[in-house]
Amino acid sequence: MSTRSRPKAVRAMCIDCMGDGANVNTPSLIRECSVERCPLRPVRPYIDGRGRRPLEPAIRAMCFHCAGENADPGPKLRVRDCPRQSCPLHPVRPWQGITGRRRDETTEAAVSQHP
Ligand code: SF4
Repeated sequence: MSTRSRPKAVRAMCIDCMGDGANVNTPSLIRECSVERCPLRPVRPYIDGRGRRPLEPAIRAMCFHCAGENADPGPKLRVRDCPRQSCPLHPVRPWQGITGRRRDETTEAAVSQHP
């Protein structure tokens, strides 16, 4: 998945989370998602009013959470240097333009499996 469209990236992330489209009821599963701690839940596809909610803060929160939050200094650098190019959010992840020393050792270890 390589798109710089935030709506498409969030949709792909939710489909991936629900089994990568293996289930024909994926739209229903996403609509009925009960994982309240997921930062993307309020902007998930197939729900009413989705288009009225900004995607950027939700994506930022998702990457921040995925990269370990404030467990270690430098969450923005860890997201910028995220090595998981197969993640649907990778092309639209925040902080890609920030400057700072690359943190190879911590990035590999800190980016967790997304939920
Ligand atoms: S794997 Fe990388 S791009 Fe995907 S949610 Fe985590 S930090 Fe963001």
